[in-house]
Amino acid sequence: MARPRVLVLGGGFGGLHAARRLRNEDVDVTVLERGTSHVFQPLLYQCATGLVSEGSIASPLRHLLRKQKNVHVALGEATSVTAVGDGSAGDGGVVTASRFDGSTFELPYDYLVVAVGMQQAYHGHDEYVQWAPGMKTLDDALAIRRKLISAFEMAESLPTPEERRPWLTFAVAGGGPTGVELAGQIRELATRALAKEFDSIHPSEARVLLFHGGDRVLESFPDSLTKKAQRTLDAVGVETHLGVHVTDVTATDVEVTAKAEPKTVTRYDTHTVLWTAGVEAVPFVKQLADAMGVEQDRSGRIAVQPDLSIPGHSNVFVVGDIMSLNKLAGVAEVAMQGGRAAGAAITADLSDSARKDFKYRDLGTAAYIARGHALVQAGPLRMSGFLGWVSWGVIHIAFLAGNRNRVGTLINWAATLATGTRRERAITYGDPETARRPYN
Ligand SMILES: Cc1cc2nc3c(=O)[nH]c(=O)nc-3n(C[C@H](O)[C@H](O)[C@H](O)COP(=O)(O)OP(=O)(O)OC[C@H]3O[C@@H](n4cnc5c(N)ncnc54)[C@H](O)[C@@H]3O)c2cc1C
Repeated sequence: MARPRVLVLGGGFGGLHAARRLRNEDVDVTVLERGTSHVFQPLLYQCATGLVSEGSIASPLRHLLRKQKNVHVALGEATSVTAVGDGSAGDGGVVTASRFDGSTFELPYDYLVVAVGMQQAYHGHDEYVQWAPGMKTLDDALAIRRKLISAFEMAESLPTPEERRPWLTFAVAGGGPTGVELAGQIRELATRALAKEFDSIHPSEARVLLFHGGDRVLESFPDSLTKKAQRTLDAVGVETHLGVHVTDVTATDVEVTAKAEPKTVTRYDTHTVLWTAGVEAVPFVKQLADAMGVEQDRSGRIAVQPDLSIPGHSNVFVVGDIMSLNKLAGVAEVAMQGGRAAGAAITADLSDSARKDFKYRDLGTAAYIARGHALVQAGPLRMSGFLGWVSWGVIHIAFLAGNRNRVGTLINWAATLATGTRRERAITYGDPETARRPYN
């Protein structure tokens, strides 16, 4: 019998760990990824605020998998899938993918592991994306860096406080970990890194507005930890507005509406709105659901069986953020363990053994609030303040891909701690056309 072909879609946490789990198996693995790198999303906000370089949080996928002889990396975006047979293990199918230039190619598979992740959700207002970039990709992080640095530079060049004010007002939509981390970092960028370098403006006057629909930020953490986080946000000068929804975004302002009656509407003049309020499955997941005859939930996730396969298709696995199982959160550890479990299920099939049910081992969650303050929760263990901050650092360094990235990130953190400055502030404008109008 020919070696089974395992096609892994996505080179994020789930896809990378699925491929690695099959390292010693008698299979041919192809990893299809639309970008060239495995991106460490948990540090995207530090890249956006000039603390770490894009290179230290994005590792070339080919490099990461170079020693694994049964893996081939393909660059392309999966656009559709056709299943063949009745979906039993061993049945196959074909995924169609597009290259950078729009041409297409086909990848046949015997087993399919889908780990394509989520994208930022704008809840029916995709037009906001032009003014309010999200925080899911390297492009998002660099777009945010461009907006932040450009806003400070614009303010520096303007003669009156009235003209400067909208450039020094920064609005963040969404009070989950990403929104909180971003808001805290913008204040730190303004008050520490840039404070000594500007002449006309005093960057410490930068106003950071954090809008959140719930009645407390960081709702996935226990109440006691969130209260501490809120006190830290207040102390560093982030203005938190709870119980409000962002209801309009333009080039020059943001509108928020209170959820409670009388639903007061407020507009703030700002050129910088950043969006972290919700995620949804990337478009390919709908193609997959339609092809496999299964439903998606409100965020586009697909419900899987205990072995992480799609009901009726035991050769197709869904892992990571797009997997719906026992209300597991969309975090890196779920994706990594899920990827390994899908690999283990394929391995079990090859040796005619029974597949094991996926059992998630919860290693905890962490969120950075500000310099010297982070939250960590692992089982009954709860940490905040300085201890939480040190633990947060150790966890993130441990999970970064590659020793070079670990060392580079540690050096950058140490330099910023020692001097207060942030060196990764270079901005680019994408292509020659956009470079002509950099302040959009
Ligand atoms: C800003 C931010 C901070 C976070 N912080 C933390 C944290 O502190 N701790 C934590 O545990 N988790 C954190 N997370 C969540 C964590 O990053 C995700 O849970 C994890 O990345 C999910 O892994 P995944 O493999 O499902 O998807 P991803 O890591 O998103 O990988 C999906 C991959 O699929 C590729 N792809 C998408 N569509 C296609 C297609 N059609 N064809 C080919 N390739 C495709 C993408 O380019 C991407 O590389 C954070 C996420 C964000 C955005």
